[in-house]
Amino acid sequence: MIGLLGGTFDPIHYGHLRTALDVQQALALSEIRLIPLADPPHRTAPSCSPEQRLALLQTAVADEPGLVIDQREILRGGKTYTLDTLRSIKQETPDETLCLILGSDAFNGFPNWHKPELILQLAHLVVMQRPGEPDPLHYHDRITHQSADLLTKEAGLVLPLAVTQLEISATRIRQMLRQGLSPRYLLPDAVLKQIIDQQLYQSS
Ligand code: ATP
Repeated sequence: MIGLLGGTFDPIHYGHLRTALDVQQALALSEIRLIPLADPPHRTAPSCSPEQRLALLQTAVADEPGLVIDQREILRGGKTYTLDTLRSIKQETPDETLCLILGSDAFNGFPNWHKPELILQLAHLVVMQRPGEPDPLHYHDRITHQSADLLTKEAGLVLPLAVTQLEISATRIRQMLRQGLSPRYLLPDAVLKQIIDQQLYQSS
């Protein structure tokens, strides 16, 4: 069973990294694939090029074997839909159970994604929550709290999972950099060094 975490990662930070590791360990996933989006359909264009965001990601996960980078959306370029990405991964690894990992905010908007019912035919959803947060309001009939259930079906279950709460966002990091403030300790030092060396995010 593998986990898939898509994001703009503009830039990658500890909110992504710690929670990804939480999910990997809680579900004993063989790996979590971080999938940087090329040009997300649902938001404005990222501040850095796909190649720059990818380089920062590579630095962030270099010494963590449980987190790997899947470049397919960047290689495909343009607008990409999660459904197409899942189909492509499923084609390559047909025997692998896929778990799509979402923050609870992203899950709230999930019914409006492109063909959510088809996504649920290809993957389980793992919804990262605050400890004690109530169950999501939609897809009630799909919710389970037993991670072992994910192994009994190929796809279509929704597992709410409490993860470490870190109030970190890439938006705030970009803002700090623009204002000349240090975002140190919100993201790995090696990633910050790369941002500073390459003068990324430093003007609006
Ligand atoms: P931005 O501020 O630019 O919108 P972001 O920090 O929210 O970016 P994304 O790349 O959009 O990062 O997020 C990718 C995934 O990681 C999403 O599913 C999002 O819910 C999740 N995520 C982002 N930040 C955190 C965090 N601090 N804790 C838990 N999950 C997070």
